[in-house]
Amino acid sequence: MNSPAIAKTKGRGVAFEVPARPALLLDWYDRHRRRLPWRPLAGERADPYRVWLSEIMLQQTGVKTVGPYFEKFLARWPDVDALGTASLDDVLRMWAGLGYYSRARNLHACAVAVRRDHGGAFPDTEQGLRSLPGIGPYTAAAIAAIAFGRRTMPVDGNIERVVSRLFAVEEPLPQAKPLIQELAATLLGESRAEDANSRADDAKSRAGDAKSRAGDSAQALMDLGSSICTPKKPACALCPLNGDCVGRARGDQETFPRKALKKAGALRRGAAFVVTRGDELLVRTRPEKGLLGGMTEVPTSHWLAAQGDKTALTQAPMLKGIARWHRKAGVVTHVFTHFPLELVVYTANVSARARAPEAMRWVPISTLRDEALPNVMRKVIAHGLGENI
Ligand code: SF4
Repeated sequence: MNSPAIAKTKGRGVAFEVPARPALLLDWYDRHRRRLPWRPLAGERADPYRVWLSEIMLQQTGVKTVGPYFEKFLARWPDVDALGTASLDDVLRMWAGLGYYSRARNLHACAVAVRRDHGGAFPDTEQGLRSLPGIGPYTAAAIAAIAFGRRTMPVDGNIERVVSRLFAVEEPLPQAKPLIQELAATLLGESRAEDANSRADDAKSRAGDAKSRAGDSAQALMDLGSSICTPKKPACALCPLNGDCVGRARGDQETFPRKALKKAGALRRGAAFVVTRGDELLVRTRPEKGLLGGMTEVPTSHWLAAQGDKTALTQAPMLKGIARWHRKAGVVTHVFTHFPLELVVYTANVSARARAPEAMRWVPISTLRDEALPNVMRKVIAHGLGENI
């Protein structure tokens, strides 16, 4: 292995340039790559549709959870053209349970745009990909590298952790992002492999290999971050980069990445109303824009900080035949990205003749599984009905 050289950053930690790192990573990846439903076998070409679908699903969601959803989507819509002709309702229904529903809306909008504006083929550059709905810098880089072999390194949370430990980046996140991006790109190998004429043959082939395998370099780092360089107790003894990891050498690798202190959102409170009519449940659809846009929910009060139970109860739906609401013991809690939520649950039964208030509807409880219910609503309904759906 080449020895570490060149301390490079000014007061932001120590960086080394080690030409062997990209080769070590690729070698490790060839032996230990994870088998994932969206990942082609070694030597096979990646399908841009599968790469894109998996990357969107994997945003804020783990591999285990995503696997079955990915298979379901692929069975129903085998290519972007098919997904581009699906209805948004169907896509939201299929997505239900994965959370962060704006991703599903963008997924649908993106498939429509690829079909309509790009003849059903994803653009093959980062810039082209970024012009599509729901594709930000990370996803564009991931698709460009993995599906099209573009020489770029997508940097997600896993890769941030590996790189910040490897180079002992002292600057806290999120300010450190540009530096980490720059350092991560060094793991792709020689930066100008196309200057092939000016290089010796063996150097040419090594750099060329790293260049054409940009997607593998990225996936190698992703795998390393999820299986070896884990947030707690990284398995450094098994790491292919342990020979020149600055964090490991210092013994404080677990303290990276440094993070700026973050203010947690204030707790919001509200009430949810689980109303049954025989074996039907009263539901409504949330507004298209905003949190959980377009998803199905039982009626609720507003969700506000410092809201008391009595105020929340005054926002109950108006239905004939409800003499009093029954408050279920306990509360349902849920944590959104920006705030935690606490809902008390009220229940009521109404007669078979009761009509749904405006903009609400009755749905059979037996078909609730087909509704685009977010997780928080699944918890509320389970709490209200006393059974899982
Ligand atoms: S040696 Fe340890 S801390 Fe450093 S990159 Fe490898 S697993 Fe992470």
